[in-house]
Amino acid sequence: MAESLDELIKKEKMYHMATYARLPVAFVKGKGTKLWDIGGKEYLDFIAGLGVINVGHSHPKVVEAVKKQVGELTHITNLFYTEPQIKLAEKLAQISFGDKCFFANSGAEANEGAVKLTRKYFYEKGQAKYKIITAWRSFHGRTLKMLAATGQPEKQKPFEPLPPGFKHVPLNDIEALKKAIDEETAAVMLEPVQGEGGVYPCDEQYLRKVRQICDENSLLLILDEVQTGVGRCGEMFAYECFDIEPDIMTLAKGLASGLPIGALIAKEEVADAFKPGEHGATFGGGPVITLAALKTLEVIEEEELIETAKEQGFYFKNKLEELKAENNLIEEVRGLGLMLGIELNKEIAKEVVLGCLDKGVIFNNIGAKIVRFLPPLCISKGEIDQAIDILNVALKKASH
Ligand SMILES: *Cc1c(COP(=O)(O)O)cnc(C)c1O
Repeated sequence: MAESLDELIKKEKMYHMATYARLPVAFVKGKGTKLWDIGGKEYLDFIAGLGVINVGHSHPKVVEAVKKQVGELTHITNLFYTEPQIKLAEKLAQISFGDKCFFANSGAEANEGAVKLTRKYFYEKGQAKYKIITAWRSFHGRTLKMLAATGQPEKQKPFEPLPPGFKHVPLNDIEALKKAIDEETAAVMLEPVQGEGGVYPCDEQYLRKVRQICDENSLLLILDEVQTGVGRCGEMFAYECFDIEPDIMTLAKGLASGLPIGALIAKEEVADAFKPGEHGATFGGGPVITLAALKTLEVIEEEELIETAKEQGFYFKNKLEELKAENNLIEEVRGLGLMLGIELNKEIAKEVVLGCLDKGVIFNNIGAKIVRFLPPLCISKGEIDQAIDILNVALKKASH
C-alpha cells in the first residue's frame, strides 16, 4: 500500500535524520527526461538527480543489463575477478588520459582515494609532501577529510577539528596559488567547474597555467570531475575543454546512471604507488554497478550524447542569456555544456525553484541567489524552450 505524501513527510521527520532540506514531492517513476510523482503528476527533469542521470531515467539498455546481472551475480569480493569491473577499467583507460582505475562507492570516497594515492606517491619517492591546495567555494564531499578539502568554512565550522593538510585559495587567481605552494605541497585539487559552490567554471587560461605550475613544482594535478565528468560539460571529461590533462581524476555522479560508484583514475606512474592491501572497498567495483557504468558509457557513445550535450548546452546558455537581456533579475549566466547556472540579484532562488516545480519543471537552487541546471544530456531543444518559458514566468512572479 503506497503511503501518501503527507504520511511520508510526517514519517521522514520521525525516522530520518534531518540532513536534507527536501522539497515536498515524492517520485515514483522516471523515463528519459520525465518524472512522475506519487499523485501521477508529470515533471520535466532539469537536475537529473544532481548530474547523475546523464543518459535519462531508466534507460532500457542500462536497466536490462542490470536486471540480468543481479540475477546472475550481484556481489563477490575483490579477492576475485569479475569481468565487468576489469572491462570498465579498460574502457576508462581507453577514453581518458588515465592508465589505471580504482572503483569506490561515491564521489567523496573516490576523492579520499585520490588524497591517499597522492600521499603514497610521494612516500614512495621519499618526499615528505602531503599538503593539497584546493579552492574556496569548492565542494569535494562529506567525509571529514573531504569536508576539510571543501572550501566552505560555514559547512566546516560545526565539525572542527578537521583533518589537516588542506590549504584554500581563491579560484582563478594564479598569484594566490603560487604563494600557497611550499615544500610540503603535494598536489592541487580543483573542480573544472565548481558545482555545489555555485556553478563557477575555471577560466581556461587559469587551468592551463595551474597545469604548468604543477609541472614546474613537481606537484600532482587532481581534477575532481565527480560532477563535470561523463559528458556533463560537453566533452566526455571537462579537462578536454581546457586542453590539459590531470595526473589524477575522480568520477562518480554520472558514471553508473544512479547506482553508487566512484572512480579514481590516474596515470600509470602515479597509480602504481598503491600496493596490495593499501586501499580497497567491500562494494567497490561490484559487477552490477560496473556493468551499469559500462552500459552508460556505451549509450553515451551510441546516442552521441556528448555532441548533444555540447549543442544543447550552447542553445540553453544562449536562451538564458536572452532571458538575462530582457529581465533585470539575472545578474550572470555561468557554466559549461549542460552544467549551467544563473545568479539572481535578489534572494528569490528558492521561490523560483518552487514556482517552477509547481508548473512541472525541476530546477535546483544553491543558496538564495543561484539556480542550477543539470538536465539529462538527451534533453531536447523543445524541452529547453518549455523550461525557459516556465522559468521566465516564475522569475517575474517571484520578483513581485
Ligand atoms: C557531489 C560531489 C562530490 C561528492 O560526491 P558523493 O557521491 O556525494 O560523495 C564530490 N565532488 C564534487 C565535485 C561533487 O559534485
